[in-house]
Amino acid sequence: MSLAFGRHYLAIPGPSVIPDRVLGAMHRAAPNIYQGELVEMMPGLLRDLRRVARTEGANVAIYISNGHGAWEAVNANLLSRGDKILVAVTGHFGRTWALSAENMGIEVETIDFGKEPIDPARVEEALANDRAHRIKAVFATHTDTATTIRNDIKAVRQAIDAARHPAALVVDAIASLGCDELYFDDWGIDVLIGASQKGLMTPPGLGFVWFSQKALAASEGSDLVTPYWDWRLRSLSTEFYRYFGGTAPTHHLYGLREALTLLLEEEGLEAAWRRHAVLASSVWAAVETWSQEGDIALNVPARSSRSHSVTGMRIGSGGAARLREWSEKNAGVTLGIGLGMAAPNEPSYGDFLRVAHMGYVNAHMTLGVLSVMEAGMRALGISHGTGALDAAAQVIAEAV
Ligand SMILES: *Cc1c(COP(=O)(O)O)cnc(C)c1O
Repeated sequence: MSLAFGRHYLAIPGPSVIPDRVLGAMHRAAPNIYQGELVEMMPGLLRDLRRVARTEGANVAIYISNGHGAWEAVNANLLSRGDKILVAVTGHFGRTWALSAENMGIEVETIDFGKEPIDPARVEEALANDRAHRIKAVFATHTDTATTIRNDIKAVRQAIDAARHPAALVVDAIASLGCDELYFDDWGIDVLIGASQKGLMTPPGLGFVWFSQKALAASEGSDLVTPYWDWRLRSLSTEFYRYFGGTAPTHHLYGLREALTLLLEEEGLEAAWRRHAVLASSVWAAVETWSQEGDIALNVPARSSRSHSVTGMRIGSGGAARLREWSEKNAGVTLGIGLGMAAPNEPSYGDFLRVAHMGYVNAHMTLGVLSVMEAGMRALGISHGTGALDAAAQVIAEAV
């Protein structure tokens, strides 16, 4: 028999769970795009997007795109053909991001940290070796959603400063924004990239780019940018339609408005950060306990380098793939595939999975997922340490 009947839970790191209130806000007739409520909503949306990124003065462009589109928007605005960048790679997303720049004619120097977090000393060294200051920007991923490593962005800024290098700091925070502490202004970020469908709890379809005045100045004269992607036109407009270079993503904006109200007004950003930290700790406590027996391990050994929105793990002999299949079929929970940890044709491909605890997720959902995983491991005969659910419950009990 299956026990999957009931509300399905997509526990993958994006798209994340969409609050009913966000869906409800989108469920309406097409609004007037020339005047009225939607047009008047725009200044508040831009203000709240600045609040999510903890910036007073950055410009914000909203693109009708996913995260990949926002990547290309940044490449196009900030850089010209033949410009050089340094990309600090800590997983699949950093690697693909570097490729997006390379494919646009940008020269890419990569430091691939493999399955380890960014070592700022190596970033500093690479910049110090660039005496002619050819490197225009350092690209760093905050949470790499594939390895589930969380990088210390402030330390990357300090490395750039220590090398006395003028490179811009460009951060992909698609998987961490609204989940993990992030301070655009205080950390000295020049360009920040986000998307709607992860911590921001809105369906996929909006890409966000925050950029400082310094980045704006650096973007003057870029030969890659085309009018639609031009961040000046998309952010420094006065007429509503110009923000989108055409028809606005009407219903997405209503959804985003509701999501930002939930996040900033009702829960509060710092409370959301704290909730994610506690839920992440409960997941780690469970997986650390499971891994005391059998062939189970967290992707990221050091707690301080683990994402607060998603946790990657390994269950040997294809256990992860079998557990994912079991959970979806029998318990109505879809766990994330192990992205970029092994190639799809390698035997170890089925050894990795990810559990999301991202966005509109609370204690009962996270404890529920962990319990389902425990049940699945028992049903499948996957050997694991005992007491994981106790350990997870203890974290929740102590936190509230
Ligand atoms: C999801 C994600 C992306 C890609 O976003 P899409 O909307 O799927 O294009 C890029 N970077 C990170 C860190 C992500 O988590």
